[in-house]
Amino acid sequence: MKYWYRLILFITLLSIIGCGSRRVINLYGLDNSDSLIVIDAGHGGHDGGASASGKREKDLVLEIAHRVYNEFKNAGYRVYLTRGSDRFLTLSQRTQIADHKDAKVFISIHANAIKNSARFNIVEGVETYFLQKTRDERSQRIAKRENDSVLQGADELSKNVIVDSVLSGPKIIQSHKLAIDVQKNVISSIRNDYSDVVNGGVRPAPFYVLVGASRPSILVEVGYITNDKERDRLFTSSYQKDIARGIVNGVNRYLYNRKKELGF
Ligand SMILES: [Zn+2]
Repeated sequence: MKYWYRLILFITLLSIIGCGSRRVINLYGLDNSDSLIVIDAGHGGHDGGASASGKREKDLVLEIAHRVYNEFKNAGYRVYLTRGSDRFLTLSQRTQIADHKDAKVFISIHANAIKNSARFNIVEGVETYFLQKTRDERSQRIAKRENDSVLQGADELSKNVIVDSVLSGPKIIQSHKLAIDVQKNVISSIRNDYSDVVNGGVRPAPFYVLVGASRPSILVEVGYITNDKERDRLFTSSYQKDIARGIVNGVNRYLYNRKKELGF
């Protein structure tokens, strides 16, 4: 083998190893062009979501949603954003988009917040939720905060009917699997640059934004806007890119396993 040829091979190998999970790699050689991914940026318009120190959830999640959109595009997927600008969507508008466009996966992006200001700089981390009724108080509290803005006017009975109507399907299992893959990959991607990020894990919660999307659906709380350190990071491009790459890597892994289950 000629010297220059070996040198090129060596440099190529180095660049592959060196990049690692800092970029999205299609590890499985899958053709993604048949898979439509719906990305939902939470809140928007008159609904600002959570806010702290003048920073608003609706702006943050829109920035991240655009990055996630671009990463999926680069990985060869078809992608749809429920909102590409600062506008309000009703709950049914969000989920109908996922249903009618034959999406493989529905991912809603939010930022977390707590009310107790004494704990603002204690509580932090990334959490991924899938739809399920739960007795866990913490999950219920977070779901309530996110639900309040999207439900507008629905009474308690109709809320329960909505949740019950979707809790029996196999998509709960798939949503749970998707949540595990996404959470794991988002954490490992962020840890490339921020080793102290807190892994809040995968949790079930009765989020109404996920109801009606008859696809594997998850809600990613990308971090706490009430935590000074995390809020500063969340608004940087490097943190946002880490989150976006992690989400795409997680979906890649989920869809690969799904195709294997179905025998390709
Ligand atoms: Zn939210």
